[in-house]
Amino acid sequence: MHSVGLQMQLNAEGRVVQLSGPLRHLLVQPPPGAQAPHLLDFLLPHSNLVIEGSPADWQGQTLDLDFYSLNGPPLHLRGWVQPLADVWLLQMLDIGDLLLERRQSRNREQCQLLAMQIAGQLRLCSLTRLPEMLAEQLQNLAQRFQIPCIALALFDEQEQGWQIHQHYAASDTPQLWQNGQRLGTGLDSLSGSAPQHLNLREHPRLQGTFGNTDGFAVPYQDAQGVVAWLLCGYFTAPQRAPDVTERDWLQITAALACPLLERLREHRHHLQLERLESLQSLLGTGWWEVFGDLGDIQLAPSLASTLNLEATRLPLQNWLAQIHPADREELRIRLQDLQDASTPLLLCVRLHRADDTLAPVWYRLQGQALGVGKSRRVVGFMLDISDIKNQEQNAAAAHARLNNLIASSPAVIYLQRYVEGALQPVFFSDSLMPLLGWTLADCAPGTLVARVHPDDRLQYFERTRQLLRKGSVRARYRLRDSRGGYHWLLDEARLLRDDLGLPVEAVGLWLDVTDATLATEQVRQSEERYRILVEDSPAMICRYLPDLTLTFGNRPLATYLELAPEQLPGVNLGSWMSGEQRDAFIRRLNHLSPEFPVSSAEINLQLPGREHAWWVWSDRGVFDEQGRLLEVQAVGRDNTEVRRSQQQLTQSAKMATLGEMATGLAHEINQPLNVMRMAVVNVLKRLNNGDAQVDYLIDKLTRIDTQVQRAARVVDHLRVFGRRSEIEQQPFNPTLAIEGTLSLLSEDMHDKGVDLRISECGFEVQVRGHVDQLEQVLINLMVNARDALLDKREANPGFKPWISLYTERDTHSVRLWVEDNGGGIDPRLLERIFEPFFTTKAVGVGTGLGLSVSYGIVENMGGKLSVRNSAEGARFCIELPIVVPD
Ligand code: ADP
Repeated sequence: MHSVGLQMQLNAEGRVVQLSGPLRHLLVQPPPGAQAPHLLDFLLPHSNLVIEGSPADWQGQTLDLDFYSLNGPPLHLRGWVQPLADVWLLQMLDIGDLLLERRQSRNREQCQLLAMQIAGQLRLCSLTRLPEMLAEQLQNLAQRFQIPCIALALFDEQEQGWQIHQHYAASDTPQLWQNGQRLGTGLDSLSGSAPQHLNLREHPRLQGTFGNTDGFAVPYQDAQGVVAWLLCGYFTAPQRAPDVTERDWLQITAALACPLLERLREHRHHLQLERLESLQSLLGTGWWEVFGDLGDIQLAPSLASTLNLEATRLPLQNWLAQIHPADREELRIRLQDLQDASTPLLLCVRLHRADDTLAPVWYRLQGQALGVGKSRRVVGFMLDISDIKNQEQNAAAAHARLNNLIASSPAVIYLQRYVEGALQPVFFSDSLMPLLGWTLADCAPGTLVARVHPDDRLQYFERTRQLLRKGSVRARYRLRDSRGGYHWLLDEARLLRDDLGLPVEAVGLWLDVTDATLATEQVRQSEERYRILVEDSPAMICRYLPDLTLTFGNRPLATYLELAPEQLPGVNLGSWMSGEQRDAFIRRLNHLSPEFPVSSAEINLQLPGREHAWWVWSDRGVFDEQGRLLEVQAVGRDNTEVRRSQQQLTQSAKMATLGEMATGLAHEINQPLNVMRMAVVNVLKRLNNGDAQVDYLIDKLTRIDTQVQRAARVVDHLRVFGRRSEIEQQPFNPTLAIEGTLSLLSEDMHDKGVDLRISECGFEVQVRGHVDQLEQVLINLMVNARDALLDKREANPGFKPWISLYTERDTHSVRLWVEDNGGGIDPRLLERIFEPFFTTKAVGVGTGLGLSVSYGIVENMGGKLSVRNSAEGARFCIELPIVVPD
């Protein structure tokens, strides 16, 4: 009875009088005192509550008491008191195991519940909340088991090492880890040796992981071995959580790691699938599988959609219809081979497209048979290789074109191999034959030089030397063809060297430039001919800028300007012109345009040493793309002599007119003379009679003075009229010419009984020319009219002759009309009357020059002289352009 548990004999106050039983050796004995120790002295403080009062009060109760134990952890004992003679016997049994088991099972239950909750939460939360949820669960665990630092480490297959996936640390604890921290392979060594959870003290290799403090690690193992560890820092499980068993730790760790890993794997798998899907659709690729005896085919959804197929499974026949007819039969046979004999399939096919003009779509088909017997499957994939195929085809086409180009190029492309300091032909493009009539075989080493024109051989040797020295060369020499003719060749070559810089071969081309060379020579010769032509031409030839600065002038021009030909460029043509001439010249140039680039004129220059020169000048403008005048090319001829003779002719005609007018003019002067003589006779008569009053004398002398002035005016005008004309034309009012004409003719006309009908000119305009010449024209017309009228009156004495002179104008021109009633001009002669020396008058009377000179004068003024017969006579019209003052 006394060999188990603990027996204590207590007195009435509860003091221990005797101890027996095996457990008494475990008790911590209170220090010895005067009295026996009290039961309370053996107990942990909280047991005081169980025993209050004295042993007599405790009877009939079950007492659970915790004793101080020599082992450390308290001793849990259960017992009761019973009277034993005069003492109380406290009989106690050890219930430590019982309690532990109960706590443990309670703990296990709680742990299981916890594990379920953790796993449930981790499984249910969304993928994005997963890290947060894991952190929350770690925090829960940390708080529940009072773990200062907790972390879940996973094995990273890529890094082949452990990594902190998620951690939690209490705020007052130094952080041992960080998320994503690499732990290396240290944890590996644990999995082999210790299948269960570990106390760090016993595993010095892990000290680093736990910062050299206490730590505790629990593995999680699946089919692949240990894949996760729960790490608890600053924590020793047996002391801090004695009631949690290894199984519980494993279960909790599994509850964390298993769903986490599942979800991570699931996520990875999902990503992979997504990537695969997108890869397939990007590449236009996908798998296929054939079922039955080539009955149906199943395609990857992405493939079916790229092929625009409605269903992913369809009869093989329908699928083959998608293939281009040219490739269809071969594919069918190859599929059959795969099905029957497991011959692997590898074939490139085109898709059948309704529109043949589109670039073809190419697929590469690969297939194989997997497994045997019932589980035999025929699978494969299709890959869009249009890009590659089309590139291949383009490259092939480009290559063919290039070959074609080389072959058909007018240039000969050649390769020369470097052999011991010499270059020997090893390749010529096909164009060699048509060009020179040789083949490569004709070019044995050394024979090429023999075909070079003897005069060009030195150049050929220099070409080779330069090619070898500088790496490239451009030369021109003659080569003999198979028929013995020579071709001018432009040779461009480049040297290719090896890695060491030693010459390997030369690649180059020969271009037949015979035609071009000959053409250049011809151009040079023709240019020379033109140069000589220009230089030796009697005409003046020059080029000048729009501001009249000469850029070139030939010898005749230089001679006229009394300069050396080389002095001409830079000299201004305008410096030999009067201001007015220059303005007129530039005005004329301004009218040149790309549509009307040519203009001719007679220009008047003041040349050194010569008074005046007249040049007939023809300009051709050269324009840029915007139509701006860049330069003028001009050809000129000296017209001075012609001009002089013309002037002389005009002058002679003028003199002739004067001659014709002589009788009229005599009358014109006679008339005042007569008046004066009459006045003088009368004055003398009076003086003789002695009644010459002063008033009478004044009156007569005044009359004489008037007549003197009148005669002087006629003589003055005659002098002016008889003069040579000015060299240059001037603007003047044509009325002046009318007035001059009348001053010379009116008296005569009046005398001859010709009625002069002059209409007042109601406007003022200016024309350009010489006033005396216009007067000459008018006089000619009036004298001709007078002659016709007098002739007519001779035949018909009652005839009343008249000449009418009137003017009219419009915006651009003024017209002077001279009309008579002399019967007009025989229509057959109308055409001829302006010809020089045409006259109907008797020899010695008419010169036949009047109208032809008049015509020339009016034309020179830019106008036109014309005639028409009116009802009664001839009607001449002088039409002149009005000059507008600038
Ligand atoms: P000329 O007067 O010396 O004959 P012109 O050249 O002046 O030379 O005239 C040529 C000819 O034209 C004249 O001979 C004449 O026959 C004819 N003629 C000129 N003017 C008239 C006119 N007003 N009426 C008739 N005939 C005219």
